Amino acid sequence: MIPVTKPFLPAEKEFKSYVKSIWERQWLTNNGPLVNTLELKLKEYLGLDHLLYVSNGTVALQLAIKALELTGEIITTPFSFVATTSTIVWQSCKPVFVDIDAETFNIDPAKIEAAITPQTSAILATHVYGTPCDIDAIQQIADKHGLKVIYDGAHCFGTRYKNRSVFEYGDISTTSFHSTKLFHTIEGGAVFTRQPDLLKKMALMRNFGYSGVDTFSEQGINAKNCEFHAAMGLCNLPHIDEILKKRKLLSAHYMLRLNKLNVRFQKLHDIEEYNYAYFPVLFKSEALMKESKEKLELAQIYCRRYFYPSLSALPYVNNVDMPVCDSIASRIMCLPLYHTLTLADVDLICRLLLRVQNTDENNLSESKHFGILIADQIESEINTATIKVNGSL
Ligand SMILES: *Cc1c(COP(=O)(O)O)cnc(C)c1O
Repeated sequence: MIPVTKPFLPAEKEFKSYVKSIWERQWLTNNGPLVNTLELKLKEYLGLDHLLYVSNGTVALQLAIKALELTGEIITTPFSFVATTSTIVWQSCKPVFVDIDAETFNIDPAKIEAAITPQTSAILATHVYGTPCDIDAIQQIADKHGLKVIYDGAHCFGTRYKNRSVFEYGDISTTSFHSTKLFHTIEGGAVFTRQPDLLKKMALMRNFGYSGVDTFSEQGINAKNCEFHAAMGLCNLPHIDEILKKRKLLSAHYMLRLNKLNVRFQKLHDIEEYNYAYFPVLFKSEALMKESKEKLELAQIYCRRYFYPSLSALPYVNNVDMPVCDSIASRIMCLPLYHTLTLADVDLICRLLLRVQNTDENNLSESKHFGILIADQIESEINTATIKVNGSL
């Protein structure tokens, strides 16, 4: 059986040694030493000065909206995980959808201005599948109209934009460390901001608003994370470069093998700064996508329609047509991609997909999309390097 994803797991003994230290200290949660160490190591790895480790990526979004005191309308993307929209509604704001770009699948900045009204307070955009939005264009619009910007960077661990962590952009960025994400702490997430006042405010909000033993200076909730989750993060972080490299290799292998398939891949901002968080494939039609999905399921290979449906179709929002998003959401599917997936697995998946479309898998002569040429290069580069991936490639 090949699922669409599997969590990365460190060696059991690595986790156990942290658990032993937790038993010795008897300090389980509330800003413990492992949480502090994880925050430090994450800042170091990402090259950032500020972040707050929180209980999950959804609470991270709630804190961001609350800290910025957003009200009224928030412009957002219909092509994301449900939490992006549901959090806006949860915080008593109204999501106003703006359609996406047909190639990057991110919010289309050219369509944002038409959606701005006197009630608009912010733009909340998702860097879909780990590919950054057009950050410069979005910031320009926000500055012109006095709007705040939040980025849902749940897919973005390791992604860079113009040589900096993508988490550095916007008033606040958020991420998720859920088990399905490429860096995880079982459950977890983080908020990022370069504005000291916002950071302080969110730090207080994360812990009930406590500013002293008996003093509260903010409204707060419980958004803290615990020592056990931090321990998993500390076990996983040393493996992150190996994880990123393996995903890059698997993605390059997919691209090469699927070169003749009648599908499109996401257009990447910069292949060198991408994190290969997902492997989405856009089919010509929904029927073809479904047929491919079913064919793979017969072989016990499970893909996921992600994201489907468009968030503008949720029962608790104003339903609006988003022609580009509606079309892409109906035809896109993510192929299996995880650390222990092998090149042979990818070969099998690709053979089955090619068979549905009756395509000759041996004919790789035609280079049809961004990524294919360098995929070749990546494959040979990484193949010759030694990657230790549980011994299996
Ligand atoms: C996973 C995800 C979230 C939610 O994160 P959790 O840690 O599961 O709460 C939010 N937005 C996007 C785009 C996601 O993929």
